Amino acid sequence: MKKKKLNLAGYIFIAMVAGILVGLCFIKSPQFTTDYIKPIGTIFINLLKFIVVPIVILSLIDGMISMKDIKKVGSIGWKTILYYTGTTIVAIIIGLSVALIFKGAFPILDTTGAEYSASTSNLMDTIVNIFPSNFWQPLVNATMLQVIVIALLLGAGILLVGDEAKPVVELINSLYKVFMKIMMLIINCSPIGVFCIMVNVVAVNGPKIVGSLAIVLAAAYVGYIIHMLVVYSATIKGIGKSSPVDFFKNMIPAIIFAFTSTSSVATLPLTKECSEKCGANPEYSSFILPLGATVNMDGTAIYMGVATIFIATCYNVELTIAQLVSVIITATLASIGTAGVSGAGMIMLTMVLESVGLPVEGIGLIYGVDKIFDMGRTTLNIVGDASCAVIISKIEERRAAKQKK
Ligand code: ASP
Repeated sequence: MKKKKLNLAGYIFIAMVAGILVGLCFIKSPQFTTDYIKPIGTIFINLLKFIVVPIVILSLIDGMISMKDIKKVGSIGWKTILYYTGTTIVAIIIGLSVALIFKGAFPILDTTGAEYSASTSNLMDTIVNIFPSNFWQPLVNATMLQVIVIALLLGAGILLVGDEAKPVVELINSLYKVFMKIMMLIINCSPIGVFCIMVNVVAVNGPKIVGSLAIVLAAAYVGYIIHMLVVYSATIKGIGKSSPVDFFKNMIPAIIFAFTSTSSVATLPLTKECSEKCGANPEYSSFILPLGATVNMDGTAIYMGVATIFIATCYNVELTIAQLVSVIITATLASIGTAGVSGAGMIMLTMVLESVGLPVEGIGLIYGVDKIFDMGRTTLNIVGDASCAVIISKIEERRAAKQKK
């Protein structure tokens, strides 16, 4: 299984390099690539768009259903949710800020004939527009924030109905598995999509796009490192009253595994072992860590912020404050909806782009190096989960000690 994933990443990388080389050959006649090669890439992008609505709905409902355990674990459940949501919002803000600093170095592509303007609306309109007035329309038009509200309402309804909703829960569980399989099939086709998109992008824009890939990767890694060293060190030291240096030292094996496997779920056993070495209580970590591997994706949130600004810049779109707020909300929810498997964050980026009307084709620009983004974001994702397990264990320890006195 693991070997197959590594092979796929290799194929995607080879496809990207081949796409760049073939694209360079067509610099003098880019129209041919636009007419005959780009459409194949468009088929791949269409499939990504097709899968995102069912995946978002099903993964969010699935996540909500699993929350019923939260009542069982009492106060640590709510603290966990609070920590996870808070750090994710900080992560996406860091991602957007770093990308805005790097923005001057991002390229503006030649998108002649295709004028893009992100959907413009003020903050209040953005908030009002989150709530759907029709059940089907948001699904048909992929209006992502409304799709999320529908998923959250359905999840809440299922939880409130309780036992009688059991058949629906089973249906959701099995549908989620089916759509995850389809998503994997689409991901497996990605080398072809990446090749065709890259040929056209390089033929039309020349080699400048290649250099900009290094810049956007650097922007994401600056964001990852800031979040890891500043935010987690602050929470470990400030709330957990522990040494961040010891924490990171003990986490090294899990960090290396996450970096190479690009899957939070696959890293789970190591994350648990390492966080317990840092002082996490096994009783708490067995609730906090699996939940984190499913819903807490700070690295993915940073990546979404950076990628959104990069793609907006490439298509010469200036995002307004209201749109940035919309990106923060959608990226937070999209990262929650991201499965802890290799490459899932890239699919969910579709949702963030659609929420502000940016062209989903933009994903093709960075898809060839997604594995490199994913290595960093998965590392951050699992470190975030472990920091939560350690901090909450320390808080509970202190509370128990106080009660004893
Ligand atoms: N690979 C990431 C993880 O497992 C998810 C993502 O693609 O962002 O945490």
